[in-house]
Amino acid sequence: MMVLDILKKNLLSITDSRKKILELFLKSNGALAHADIEKNTGETFDRVTVYRTLQTFVEKGIIHLIPTTDNSILYALCKDNCEAGHHHDDHVHFICNSCSKTICLDEVTVPKVKLPKGFTPGQTQMVVKGICGDCIKK
Ligand SMILES: [Zn+2]
Ligand SMILES: [Zn+2]
Ligand SMILES: [Zn+2]
Repeated sequence: MMVLDILKKNLLSITDSRKKILELFLKSNGALAHADIEKNTGETFDRVTVYRTLQTFVEKGIIHLIPTTDNSILYALCKDNCEAGHHHDDHVHFICNSCSKTICLDEVTVPKVKLPKGFTPGQTQMVVKGICGDCIKK
């Protein structure tokens, strides 16, 4: 899908920051760290603009957050079935211990966890850590 199609579909006006940041996501075939997005756009947009743009994308169901153990913030593109205020990213994520590459395992669904009586589940997240195919070859 093209950048402009995604913005139009989500009823977002087209701004330079939205275009540029969405392009970054479409070009990468994995997750992007908040810091990397800032690095790639820092000369053109200020931090607040980058932050707000990412927030808007999360709210619209265009990208989702990926849990990390070191408090860094990672985002990845959502699939088509996410919508504004309603994400369906119940898939497992893989993080490479060597190069930190993070990918969505869209085919692998996080299992339902049985909770004690009276508990209500919020979001369940699962991360697999290991070595990615590129790093094993090295
Ligand atoms: Zn989503
Ligand atoms: Zn790797
Ligand atoms: Zn994901």
